[in-house]
Amino acid sequence: MKIAALDIGGTAVKSLLYTGQPVSQKEVSETPTNAFLGAETLMQTVQKILKSMGSFDRIAVSTAGQVNPVSGTILFATENLPGYTGTPVKRLLEEAFGVPVTVENDVNAAALGEAYFGAGKPYDSFLCLTYGTGIGGAIVQNGSIYHGASCAAGEFGHILTHAGGLPCTCGGHGCYEAYASAGALCRRVQEETGLQLSGREVFARLPKQPQLYQIVQDWIEEILWGLVSLIHAWNPPCVVLGGGIMNEPLILDRIRQKLPQTLMPNHRAVHLEKAALGNMAGLLGAVHLAEK
Ligand SMILES: [Zn+2]
Repeated sequence: MKIAALDIGGTAVKSLLYTGQPVSQKEVSETPTNAFLGAETLMQTVQKILKSMGSFDRIAVSTAGQVNPVSGTILFATENLPGYTGTPVKRLLEEAFGVPVTVENDVNAAALGEAYFGAGKPYDSFLCLTYGTGIGGAIVQNGSIYHGASCAAGEFGHILTHAGGLPCTCGGHGCYEAYASAGALCRRVQEETGLQLSGREVFARLPKQPQLYQIVQDWIEEILWGLVSLIHAWNPPCVVLGGGIMNEPLILDRIRQKLPQTLMPNHRAVHLEKAALGNMAGLLGAVHLAEK
């Protein structure tokens, strides 16, 4: 079975024709989303990409925004994708191509990718967190996504770790992502040193700039506090941590070292795994859903 897989994000639409063979990054194409042109143009772009992929039996979509996975409609998208809220992605693509279409939120799809092709393979259930500009989260339970009452479960970036603290993109104050995201690290570095650095640049400068070392240590503690709350609440066998910043070994090393001291004894067996699939996770998770 051939599956046309798409991962629709705020900056690019990634695409992959899956034929059941192992895939590599080289097979993934990227097309600019041009989100500012609006959702209708975006759906035209998506159709053009699909037409260029030749013949396929199913379409698998991973997309930014909150998704109703049954109707395949976008329940809510931020202004990163203007006008995208309410778009009936599944219906539009089924009408245009006459094949079954599955649609899932990109963070959930990435977690499923890790569950079936990556770091989550040994586990039936785990929590997945992605640290980038914000913090994305997903709950894999017995091999499926736990969606919650209104398809919005896993918003781990918005658990409160500093009630009444820094403002957050959600409109609240003191959310986890305002302190522990890669974006929060960069903001803190800028506030304290005046330097505008990416997360990767911060780590590259660590050996030469001890001042940055303390900021990074404090930031890793922030990551830890959120994980402690989530692990106590869910008692998962594993937590998968993703986002480019997690390629810095210092982060997971430090968390693994400190976590046991901060968890209740019967939670300490939890495994921490680094996400294995990088930016292919969403595509592969979407493929898994389409294959079912
Ligand atoms: Zn928030």
